[in-house]
Amino acid sequence: MQDYADIREEVAKLCQQYPGDYWRAKDRARAYPTEFVTALAEAGYLAALIPEEYGGAGLPISGAAAILEEIQRQGCNGGACHAQMYIMGTLLRHGSDAQKAEYLPRIATGELRLQAFGVTEPTSGTDTLALKTTAKRDGDDYVVNGQKIWTSRAEHSDLMLLLARTTPREQAAKRTEGLSVFLVDMRTAVGNGLTIRPIETMMNHSTTEVFFDNLRVPAANLIGEEGQGFRYILSGMNAERLLIAAECVGDAKWFIDKASAYAKERVLFNRPIGQNQGVQFPIARAYAQMRAAELMVQEGLRKYEAGEAVGEEANIAKMLAAEASWAAGEACIQTHGGFGFAAEYDIERKFRETRLYQVAPISTNMILSFIAEHVLGLPRSY
Ligand SMILES: Cc1cc2nc3c(=O)[nH]c(=O)nc-3n(C[C@H](O)[C@H](O)[C@H](O)COP(=O)(O)OP(=O)(O)OC[C@H]3O[C@@H](n4cnc5c(N)ncnc54)[C@H](O)[C@@H]3O)c2cc1C
Repeated sequence: MQDYADIREEVAKLCQQYPGDYWRAKDRARAYPTEFVTALAEAGYLAALIPEEYGGAGLPISGAAAILEEIQRQGCNGGACHAQMYIMGTLLRHGSDAQKAEYLPRIATGELRLQAFGVTEPTSGTDTLALKTTAKRDGDDYVVNGQKIWTSRAEHSDLMLLLARTTPREQAAKRTEGLSVFLVDMRTAVGNGLTIRPIETMMNHSTTEVFFDNLRVPAANLIGEEGQGFRYILSGMNAERLLIAAECVGDAKWFIDKASAYAKERVLFNRPIGQNQGVQFPIARAYAQMRAAELMVQEGLRKYEAGEAVGEEANIAKMLAAEASWAAGEACIQTHGGFGFAAEYDIERKFRETRLYQVAPISTNMILSFIAEHVLGLPRSY
């Protein structure tokens, strides 16, 4: 598999224009990194997965993974824009030709931002099939009512990929049917049935809750077949897990580089602190964890691109990578002693940011349940 050395180098150069003080200022103000995201869009990186015929780079998923890993590795935060990479698959695979022709070229130029993904709801959480937001057909529209939570970047996106129930659960032919996916044009929806309310969180993530009150969505914006939306979202989730895992590998590398450099340079008791095994070992262990995760990400990307089933690798990669980035963050703080807590070192910011990935987009428990049930054949536990 390609390592995209050229792309990584160019992404690194772009990221270096957005150093720690840029991210610290955004973090303090809880502000969206608009300049950074615009620069990525203008350079074409957010259109990596869009086919060339629609104005994108037409890269396979491993190209998108390389871009996102490098963003994290440089100390930036791809959380501001990664959704465009992982939502894209649903539109590419299940969108109609008319939908692709209407939206993809403008997403490719950066004119339209596809950054909001409305799946999680306050009462259903991980139990996606229990979601309550409904979309009822009325003439040429669907009328949407309900609520989503943790809809990140909603205030900074023009389009939202929305999962809503179109057939009541008890009337659906199968447990997994009755949900549908829509592309919601938020530019016209806000104020006409869509309300967005920001949620304050421990890191700067621009996440929100959104309320639908008789929002009319044209039937032309239904993606694929009515009732099959859960299947479309699930197929996109493997891509999402692999891409988030690549980001965590990037985070882990950033923490490990930073910890190693400091351990060599900080001298106490007449020797660098990195000469002590008590300082070396947590960094070395995190490195080993990161390498194992990186190999699993690569294996997942390879199988994904070969069109093979990838649920096992995508889930394992996501879990190992999120644990590796956390271990690396922990080692990095400990290596820096008190300075690890000082905002100007960026470590405490990255530490808060990378913690998310053990919970979202899927928590570690649900991954372990997947492995137990679908890989090891153990009884389903829930
Ligand atoms: C900052 C942030 C950004 C997010 N962005 C988005 C977004 O853009 N779009 C979106 O749709 N969602 C988003 N999410 C939601 C995210 O995907 C969910 O938080 C995550 O899936 C967990 O769901 P939950 O929070 O409802 O937890 P719950 O489902 O309530 O779970 C709570 C805990 O219980 C555990 N648990 C639940 N059931 C079981 C079981 N059967 N066995 C063992 N353990 C179990 C879980 O592992 C978890 O640790 C975001 C979340 C956060 C915090």
